[in-house]
Amino acid sequence: MSDCIFCKIAAGEIPAELLYRDEEVVAFRDVNPRAPVHVLVIPVEHVPGTRPVDPARAPLLGKLLTVAAGLAEELGIAESGYRLVINQGPDAGQAVFHIHVHLLGGRRMAWPPG
Ligand code: AMP
Repeated sequence: MSDCIFCKIAAGEIPAELLYRDEEVVAFRDVNPRAPVHVLVIPVEHVPGTRPVDPARAPLLGKLLTVAAGLAEELGIAESGYRLVINQGPDAGQAVFHIHVHLLGGRRMAWPPG
């Protein structure tokens, strides 16, 4: 989508600190990190969020989680633990309407989240 900031990052049109890229998925550091490790994992394809529910997207959504988990290993936070978050809609505070998995780690995190 032409006015989507994450589509532009996926297309290389605006800079980001990329940690992973293949034909389907891109991962980069969050510009406003909420933890020592804060990475966003996105599909190259513009998918607005977990809605509308589409079983055909299950492999892609699974791949986002798999790439995030692999990055947690690479970044050295797998043993200490990490959180994977998808914010969907207003009550969750979704700000960018291109689905993304937040990979957060490197510090102790509160549960339940605020
Ligand atoms: P969410 O509230 O789940 O939609 O989170 C959007 C996230 O995108 C926030 O954590 C922002 O800091 C992050 N973000 C927004 N613009 C950029 C950007 N250009 N590069 C990296 N991260 C970004």
